[in-house]
Amino acid sequence: MTTPGFFVLESRRLLAALFAAGALWLSTQDWKLALVALVLVLAICWGWQLTRVYRWFADPEQVPPISNSGLGGVLRDVYALRSRDTVAAKTPARSQSYLTDSLASMRDAALIINSDGRLVWCNDAAEYLLDITLEEEEGKPFSDVAPGKSLKRYMRKENFQKPLRIKPGPDPEYCLQLEFSRFGANDRLVFIKDVTEQDKLERMRRDFVGNVSHELRTPLTVIKGYIETLQSLMPESDERLVKSLGSMDVQTARMESLISDLLWLSRIESVEGERKDDQLDLVDLLSHVCDELMAAWPDRQIEVVTSSKLCVLGNAAELRSAISNLIVNALKYSEAPVSVRWSDTVVGPELLVADQGPGIDAKHIPRLTERFYRVDKSRSQATGGTGLGLAIVKHVAVSHDAKLFIDSELEKGSTFRLVFPNDRAVACDVCSTECGRTDASQ
Ligand code: ADP
Repeated sequence: MTTPGFFVLESRRLLAALFAAGALWLSTQDWKLALVALVLVLAICWGWQLTRVYRWFADPEQVPPISNSGLGGVLRDVYALRSRDTVAAKTPARSQSYLTDSLASMRDAALIINSDGRLVWCNDAAEYLLDITLEEEEGKPFSDVAPGKSLKRYMRKENFQKPLRIKPGPDPEYCLQLEFSRFGANDRLVFIKDVTEQDKLERMRRDFVGNVSHELRTPLTVIKGYIETLQSLMPESDERLVKSLGSMDVQTARMESLISDLLWLSRIESVEGERKDDQLDLVDLLSHVCDELMAAWPDRQIEVVTSSKLCVLGNAAELRSAISNLIVNALKYSEAPVSVRWSDTVVGPELLVADQGPGIDAKHIPRLTERFYRVDKSRSQATGGTGLGLAIVKHVAVSHDAKLFIDSELEKGSTFRLVFPNDRAVACDVCSTECGRTDASQ
């Protein structure tokens, strides 16, 4: 694109001035006068325009619009460009102040942290919850304003998908939940919620379930003992009583496993926030779980394939119970051999348990991990299920930052996958690979 020259841009003005100067020359017959008049008119015109440009540079908002034609057209374009830049430069500041104005009027606690992790602004509610004043804390690293190792780690990781809970004060019960989101030039907007009451209620519910289950254990053990004694004393000829005692025995056994699942679930919940970072060789863990299950189900087959060399950072007892629940379900609900696979995927190592059982209708899948949710009550009762197995698996998955995927097709079978994130997977160290590992493929 070629830029038109100055005289081309100003051609209309020049022609008009030349025409006027010619007319003056013709009427006065004095070419010198006409020439002076021409130069004077053009100088005044261009001088006027330049003056407006200088005035505008000094104060861009005050300048009246410049004419569209000739040099004025170029100046108008410059004017438009500069005005646009000025507006753009003002926008972040304006939008930030708009944001802080809106947040200031909110009842929820909110604060803004810059890309260096320093506190830029907070509203009154945040000052109250964190027991700080903006005046004193502005510009300080946020991890110093609301101290705690977990906050430092959370901010370093920069993964704000899950909210963070912190206990900022001396009161061990006082608990805040922080939700981070990014905006602008990597600034963060943080919403803070006081979850102390919510936490307390949740703890009471957990303790209640735990205590009741614990209290039920003792009478149940006594009842079980009496049933066993009566069974041994009962003459086999009394079929009716033998049958009644048999069914009492089955029901107490069911109650026992229900209580032990409830106790285990409430234990897992109570240590949910705790760090779980023992290095666990899943190949070892799988081989132990499978050995135990093969002893309990001697006529069944479990095919284990392990191709991943990775260990998982987690809690052994919890992972063992999750894996065991998945394999037990596969054994309970199918008759064909069960496949277990430990392998690497792009997102992290994966444990897969697949069966060729009756499958699960898609409509049930989203609710399977709810406590006591059963697809088919009679089938579950027949297999002795408690309805808590998948709830336990889900809890263990969440507390290990893993994801549980369930794929199932009716009449074809079901596949359960536990996918661990890469930051929980480490290369197994020398001892666990050479001393503890056995080839579990069988
Ligand atoms: P349960 O102790 O009843 O097995 P779970 O929480 O382990 O309880 O499972 C919930 C429900 O999901 C079960 O009642 C069953 O209907 C269904 N389910 C779980 N695993 C399988 C599977 N491998 N195949 C078919 N259905 C399954």
